[in-house]
Amino acid sequence: MNDHETEGADERARRAAEPPTPSRRDLLAGGLGAAGAGALGAGAANADGSGAAAAPEDLYLPEDAWRDRMRAPDDGKRFGWVVDTRRCFGCHGCEVACKAENDVPLGQYIRQTIYHDHTRASGAVARIMVPMACQHCEDAPCIKACPCGSMHKGPGGTVQVDYDTCSGHGACKEVCPYGAIYIDPVANQAVKCHNCTHRVEQDMEPACVETCPSGALYFGDLDDPESSVSKIKARLEAEGALETLRPEKATRPRMHFAADADHPVASWEPKVPREGESYANDAYSVYSWGEEGFDGSNDSEQEDE
Ligand code: SF4
Repeated sequence: MNDHETEGADERARRAAEPPTPSRRDLLAGGLGAAGAGALGAGAANADGSGAAAAPEDLYLPEDAWRDRMRAPDDGKRFGWVVDTRRCFGCHGCEVACKAENDVPLGQYIRQTIYHDHTRASGAVARIMVPMACQHCEDAPCIKACPCGSMHKGPGGTVQVDYDTCSGHGACKEVCPYGAIYIDPVANQAVKCHNCTHRVEQDMEPACVETCPSGALYFGDLDDPESSVSKIKARLEAEGALETLRPEKATRPRMHFAADADHPVASWEPKVPREGESYANDAYSVYSWGEEGFDGSNDSEQEDE
């Protein structure tokens, strides 16, 4: 390791050891006292100072604080996604491309391919693969909870992070119903899918879309009937094959999933992280295959051959 690398490693270690900057909400709540990137995570105090864990909606700010940021710029575009889970075969090419394109560190993910293992009647284990990332919600909880004004609607109405203002307080992560945000341990800032904005601005596709060898990922302008994402969305809608994730959250996601009738979104959605969580290294069911009782009761379902 040369001097420059040693110096860089020392600086990263020093910054990682530093407690996070308290947010305005921390101060209003009388100080959380919790250290680490998840300052608003487990153990976070309620605004009443009771010490009880805050419910995600308790982190929402008054509408005046986020109304302008929820308004999409008037650029004539409405970007969105279609994910055809029936085509994904779990190569993880999208994850690798995303990590390379966006310099995502080891142990963190902007996108992750969710596995859902289920047991067939024959006893054979089968698997569904679902590429997962930020849903770019129309009614985005992360925007409603962000106290420093960082989370906002960007190009095409997608949800973006302003890195000039993000202080890594983590409220966005606590309220995201899909576990789509991680707090970078070095920069102490929120990170999530931004649709490879730097590529889209140059009329390129996001790195994951361009890399996917099975044609499972589509991104583009949903208001342009000639875009590939609009065409596939129209076809799949006509087939009745499109669903969104956790509609009960009322976030109106811009990501639409095509799933087999035998394995609708409801069959695998329990595998998707929830509020306060992020994609994780140990998310794959392969790690639980050896556990006693792996018979489909939790992670899987019985099905006829
Ligand atoms: Fe925000 Fe999570 Fe919705 Fe993405 S999926 S827009 S991070 S609430």
